Amino acid sequence: MKAVAVVGAGTMGNGIAHVFAQHGWNVTMVDVVERQLDQALETIRRNMDRQIKKGSLTEGDRDAALARITKATGLDAVGDAGLVVEAATEAPDVKFSLFEQLDRVAADSTILATNTSSISITEIAARTARPDKVIGMHFMNPVPVMKLVEVVRGLGTSDETTATVMETARELGKTPVEVSDYPGFVANRVLMPMINEAVYCVMEGVASAEAVDTVMKLGMNHPMGPLALADLVGLDVCLSILQVLHDGLGDPKYRPCPLLRKMVAAGRLGRKTGGGFYDYS
Ligand code: NAD
Repeated sequence: MKAVAVVGAGTMGNGIAHVFAQHGWNVTMVDVVERQLDQALETIRRNMDRQIKKGSLTEGDRDAALARITKATGLDAVGDAGLVVEAATEAPDVKFSLFEQLDRVAADSTILATNTSSISITEIAARTARPDKVIGMHFMNPVPVMKLVEVVRGLGTSDETTATVMETARELGKTPVEVSDYPGFVANRVLMPMINEAVYCVMEGVASAEAVDTVMKLGMNHPMGPLALADLVGLDVCLSILQVLHDGLGDPKYRPCPLLRKMVAAGRLGRKTGGGFYDYS
């Protein structure tokens, strides 16, 4: 039986654990906050119930998948899992410290993957003695629904590790795309400048948020306008990824829009605070 440890049981961690368990893997879910683990299991159950209603999962499959998930609050529980997927808080210090520890506790052959959206895979790998086995496995939110996995190669990531992770993503029913480790990878390098430009359009009075989103939905066939999407992602998350692009690539074209900075400073972060470019109250 294949075994994976998922470190961090928040929004992404529960989705990643869900998908592995559903595809027959034994999953150890690790978080420093016990309550997060309980909430993650509840969320997985609720999302699986939704799949049952849609007819894409049976009750038996759900029960078997849930039985394959165990929870833990310490990294020692990683044991001899062949793969670790880290989905902890997006802060360089958190990831660097976690990878130093994971390198010590995981078996020598274990692949250490990170779901980071914006931190350099190469820098994370440099904290370990196995940079050839460190890789980005960038799932999209919501994980059980979204087909893409960006597989991000750090400078030292081996061909073997890349091939194993690409194959694993396929086994999970996903479509992996191999990319190199540069700021923002591909998804955020292309998405965030578009969101930023949409915010500039609002700031400069070119059009209202609704008008910008309507142009992109009806004109470009995007399922969702860039500003509604920014509200969903979180304006603070958009700002911090733009800062990573700006710092990492040094090109002024990635300069975060002053209106975006102002909204974040005001605490208008999008859906999670009840308001951003739209009102959700
Ligand atoms: P989140 O805040 O929902 O969850 C993070 C979890 O990590 C929390 O439960 C926290 O308790 C836990 N954690 C913190 N430090 C830890 C440690 N040392 N050991 C174990 N657990 C620890 O965050 P999220 O939105 O799930 O994001 C997780 C990762 O996924 C980030 O790297 C983020 O960039 C990436 N990501 C997020 C999205 C998204 O849409 N939310 C999409 C793609 C990638």
